Amino acid sequence: MKKYVFGTVVLLAAALLFLRHRENGKRHELSFFAMDTPVTLTAYGPAAPRGLRDAEEAVRKIERELSVTMPTSAVARLNTGETLPAASAAGRAITAALELCAETDGAFDPTLYPALRAWGFTTGEYRVPSRDELTELLKQCGVRHLRREGGSLRLEAGAMIDLGGLGKGLASDVAAQALKDAGVESAVLNLGGNVRTLGARPGGGRWRIGVRAPEDGLLGVIETDEGAVVTSGNYERFFERDGVRYWHILDPKTGEPARSGVVSVTVCGPNGERCDALSTAYFVMGPQKAAAFWKERGSESFVMLTDNGDLFVCEDLAGRFTVDQERKNAKVTVIRR
Ligand code: AMP
Ligand code: MG
Repeated sequence: MKKYVFGTVVLLAAALLFLRHRENGKRHELSFFAMDTPVTLTAYGPAAPRGLRDAEEAVRKIERELSVTMPTSAVARLNTGETLPAASAAGRAITAALELCAETDGAFDPTLYPALRAWGFTTGEYRVPSRDELTELLKQCGVRHLRREGGSLRLEAGAMIDLGGLGKGLASDVAAQALKDAGVESAVLNLGGNVRTLGARPGGGRWRIGVRAPEDGLLGVIETDEGAVVTSGNYERFFERDGVRYWHILDPKTGEPARSGVVSVTVCGPNGERCDALSTAYFVMGPQKAAAFWKERGSESFVMLTDNGDLFVCEDLAGRFTVDQERKNAKVTVIRR
């Protein structure tokens, strides 16, 4: 009798352990549209359903604060002349953006909205502004137009802030934190090419993040621990006029699409907001300047595809990036410190 009881207890314990293990590895997914992009959040384990709801709310909250096209957002109100507390979420994001502008010698510039708007990139009403028009509009761009008065931020008339270059990365960090707070230990979040992982992959090993190729399909796969893998590409948002392609990443010096020879650049690092801003900045810099910047500053590493099909890979990513079979003959330059 004792033997049977013991046997039953052992069996029950094993079944419970099995069920718990299965629940810990159970995959939950939530997809929605926010920040002008499709978002897919994947989380594992019993805390995932609540964590995913919190993460969605966190992303929507960031959107409500930072959106340049929602008239009620904190950024939109700043853009129409209202003051904004520097300590608010939007105020802190703007301060971080200004620091990244200084750090990248102006390649990342959150004050380009007057020029960006003229191209129609946020409205979809595309047009090619004349050189004279852009020269005029560039006078309204530049961080000098943002004033800090006590604890408040204010813009001079005509100047406008746009955090489109780092907003999704910031949202991915905030969503990852919401999942963590809910008790989720393992998740992968994709906000339109801004990927953020949390914890380790269920079953062990590094996360394998596919990097989109411009013509669909994959450019390659990056292996990563917890952190961000953020891609900026000229195929994300563009239009064509008379056979010329115009895209949404502008060179702050000209107000025109940055023609640095870059098609896409993927940045890896611990922080999504920084990786997002740097992906935009590296795109503007092009391969030579980005490599020099990376060497000099020890900034986040990247994989870059140029318009002649060449790849540039920072040395600490070289062992973690596998180029897709379709491009196995591409010239790959490893950038060393
Ligand atoms: P991303 O896709 O992260 O490279 O961000 C592109 C978005 O950032 C654009 O849609 C604009 O809203 C904004 N943007 C464009 N050019 C720049 C720039 N040089 N610096 C900062 N933000 C930019
Ligand atoms: Mg970016």
